[in-house]
Amino acid sequence: MATPIDILHINFGFDHFRDGQEQVITQVLNHQNTLAVMPTGGGKSLCYQIPALINPGVTIVVSPLLSLMKDQVDSLRQNGIAAAALNSATPREEVNPILRSAYNGETKLLYVTPERLAMEYFQYQLSFLNINLVAIDEAHCISQWGHDFRPAYRQLNAAIQRLKTNPTILALTATATPQVQADIGEQLTIPRENFVITSFARPNISFRVTHPQGSTRQYIVKYLTAHQGEAGIIYANTRKRVESLTSFLNDRGFHAAMYHAGMTTEDRAKVQDDFQFDRVPVIVATNAFGMGIDKSNVRFVLHATSAKSLESYYQEAGRAGRDGLPSEAVMLYHANDIQQYRWFIDQSTADDQYREVQYEKLQAITDYANTPRCLQQQLVEYFGQSCDPCGHCSNCTDDRQLEDITPVAKEIIATVNELHGRFGKSLVAKVVTGSHDQRVRQLHVDQLDHYGALKLSQQAAGSLVDYLVATGFLELEGGQFPVVKVGKPSWRVLAGKATIQRRVEPQPTKVATKIE
Ligand code: ADP
Ligand code: ZN
Repeated sequence: MATPIDILHINFGFDHFRDGQEQVITQVLNHQNTLAVMPTGGGKSLCYQIPALINPGVTIVVSPLLSLMKDQVDSLRQNGIAAAALNSATPREEVNPILRSAYNGETKLLYVTPERLAMEYFQYQLSFLNINLVAIDEAHCISQWGHDFRPAYRQLNAAIQRLKTNPTILALTATATPQVQADIGEQLTIPRENFVITSFARPNISFRVTHPQGSTRQYIVKYLTAHQGEAGIIYANTRKRVESLTSFLNDRGFHAAMYHAGMTTEDRAKVQDDFQFDRVPVIVATNAFGMGIDKSNVRFVLHATSAKSLESYYQEAGRAGRDGLPSEAVMLYHANDIQQYRWFIDQSTADDQYREVQYEKLQAITDYANTPRCLQQQLVEYFGQSCDPCGHCSNCTDDRQLEDITPVAKEIIATVNELHGRFGKSLVAKVVTGSHDQRVRQLHVDQLDHYGALKLSQQAAGSLVDYLVATGFLELEGGQFPVVKVGKPSWRVLAGKATIQRRVEPQPTKVATKIE
């Protein structure tokens, strides 16, 4: 009988397994339920495709996106492997032939959406098949703690339990915090010792954060000019922004195409192909672009608007440098984007717990954008791992001078303290900068000792608060209306036993404008 490595050579034409693949395949073939957490591009698909070819019966692959399914089925067929997809786009008259060929053992892999698997009639149809393995792609969608919760995933376990053949379960994801991993394990009955988690670090990607002072567009023009001829993706968060940025760049002579979910299927397929085959170097896109893109030589991923969570950010940024060559992932951070996302969460009708989680995810983005630490470390730790400083992210290579901002920071901390940790960032900024705002007068906080202690713009004071939160000197509590509290390390600062440093910002705001 063919072994996994034979199949890797013969059916897929690769010489060796990547990190984690062999272990997952071995566990799955031993009927152990398994969770595989591997980075985007790490080769998760082979982890179920190879067992599917070894097992006597059928493998069901649960996949959330029709387009992704189609790509996978097409590429398997190109490798001579019989695979099929059953979803809402499958013509009615094709359903029975597909089921029959799975019954006869011809079709080895059957791709389905979670919604279909949850349907009782479909479960009945499946009861005739010898199902050995159920692989669940994008398994983080099962968790409310994840960034992409999808209700139909909650019904998967019940659906799998109804299958008569007691199949092995393999859950796969690229982005799962420890909390999400635990949740997946619990819901799909995967014991922790069967988790296979490969390193999250992407050592060939240089992560960069910038807080553009001038216009975002000027930054992008400069960036593209410096990266002529390289393949890259620019993410923006709305269709309108994607459209206007694309035409702006085209007008300036840059060869870029756009991609968003509002375009026709044909137009999208064409853009995807043009990018894949190097006919268009740069794609400006919403987050609809990327799933199923298998381009190895993407040299940069630039977020013109920040993502809503570090999970999505890391997934999107991770599309850079799959070939292992040096690449960049740049995030342009605007506090406004975060405020806008916050507003959407405020307005949403989701339950409180879910909204709290979303608020925390936004805060993780703000912290990432403001931390002075190694960005790769910050990301990897978010996913529950650790690594050494990368040596090449924008923080590791930041050679701007460290400035002692203790005096200014102390005023802010003292203001927070005077407000008894009961108010949010914007009121702190207003008080410390001496605003005459109506709310300030109503609350009589213009009577406080630290009212007007700093001669800064409110925005600059707000950005200092962000910095102090990202560095742990201040803490935020509460989701929808977070209040700022004094963090433990600050007591040493107030007592004069510690100082606070910050890299000197290019803009003329932060330090040295204090009035005594
Ligand atoms: P993921 O689903 O983890 O994002 P894929 O399964 O799509 O990643 O794999 C990414 C790419 O890596 C694909 O082109 C795949 O053919 C390739 N690949 C997977 N495993 C190996 C391997 N062992 N050796 C070489 N290439 C591999
Ligand atoms: Zn670094």
